[in-house]
Amino acid sequence: MEIDRLQVLRTDVSGMPLEWIGYREAARLYHQEQIAYSCGSLLYKLYGGHNAVTGRRTVVEVNSIIATVGIAGNPGHTRHDYVPPLNNQTLFRRDAHLCLYCAQRFLTRELSRDHIRPFSQGGLDVWTNVVTACRRCNNHKAWRTPEQAHMQLIAVPFTPTYAEYIYLKGRRVLADQMEYLLAHFPRTSPLHDRLQRKVERKWGQTPIPLGGLGSDPIFLRQLRHQECVVRNPVEHEVATAQALGLEA
Ligand SMILES: [Zn+2]
Repeated sequence: MEIDRLQVLRTDVSGMPLEWIGYREAARLYHQEQIAYSCGSLLYKLYGGHNAVTGRRTVVEVNSIIATVGIAGNPGHTRHDYVPPLNNQTLFRRDAHLCLYCAQRFLTRELSRDHIRPFSQGGLDVWTNVVTACRRCNNHKAWRTPEQAHMQLIAVPFTPTYAEYIYLKGRRVLADQMEYLLAHFPRTSPLHDRLQRKVERKWGQTPIPLGGLGSDPIFLRQLRHQECVVRNPVEHEVATAQALGLEA
């Protein structure tokens, strides 16, 4: 369903990213008073039943980033030696859907997981020994190392940290969520440049009306970094319309 496409980034109370959740799970957390605070943009406005006493209708507003109390669902993100599970979907996203040998971009179905040092030569199935490769390059390399096959990697494979992994798992990451996750990446993260460009492109698409201050880009930029209250009107309107469509 269309409305499920926008995911909410759940963090712990200290702001560490934990996971992506749908609006139903977010609404459940609101009802259970598990939300410590929320930031980012308003994604969903969910209407419930009428209060028998006041006659008022309950409304739950779900933002793009919500911080929750408790440690439920904590997947070990605080451990420095945490290694996210390896799967093709996140591997291909780590490598931006580029074949790390011929540097061309491909569709998911045209990509494969290449073991830099092949199994037959003692290579392991770990993040630092695997790269995204197109089928042609993978076939050409076969059971050889890049040196043996006279092929060169265009980037060094890395193990994502927990925050990086959350980003790579996101289906349709919004600009504010991206910016939030970026702040939790290691300084040396190869994803920095790529995401920074994306964030700027996404924010750039949408002038943000914020009363009389909305036209001042410097103010907006500062605001984005200092607080988590900027709304992305395009996403916001689409999402709210979708959410409202729910009750019809
Ligand atoms: Zn290739």
